[in-house]
Amino acid sequence: MVGYRWRCQACQAGNEPNLDKCAFCGCPANAGSEDIEKHINPDAFKKKKAKEEYSKSLFIYFFIPFFAANHALNGRYESLVIILAIVAFISVKNINLLIHIWNDRWARMTLITIASVFMISILYRRVFMLDDSPHVWLLALSYLVLSPLSYYYFFKSENGERVFGDYYSKYKK
Ligand SMILES: [Zn+2]
Repeated sequence: MVGYRWRCQACQAGNEPNLDKCAFCGCPANAGSEDIEKHINPDAFKKKKAKEEYSKSLFIYFFIPFFAANHALNGRYESLVIILAIVAFISVKNINLLIHIWNDRWARMTLITIASVFMISILYRRVFMLDDSPHVWLLALSYLVLSPLSYYYFFKSENGERVFGDYYSKYKK
């Protein structure tokens, strides 16, 4: 119970003091911004959440070869096995998503390219660079640029949105 007449933040309808959910759209009186978004446009909200989930699930694959190569070069085979086991587990869970990515030529090539760039950079770093070389820092800095850039390209570019849109209408609707 709110105790005073209140205006719904999602649909702007006036509501009686004894209601704690909007009589017209069901949005709670004390709704947070996510709640409001959900009630204004449920479909758009659902799609936005699915896109977040999608990006999170795929982003790790950018770095799997990078970490695997690094652990292998360090001779840390136990942690390498653990990483690969976790990856296998996650991949089985997301198998439809991975098949979808694999079947799209752009998505497949882009993901392979991004993951290869990160992996080759760590191989180069470990094999050719001395630990006290100033280029080590330059390389570390370049990851700060490369990570968001590849994220943007893979998920937000026109092709990135298209691949997600196809996936969403195929599996999530
Ligand atoms: Zn409302």
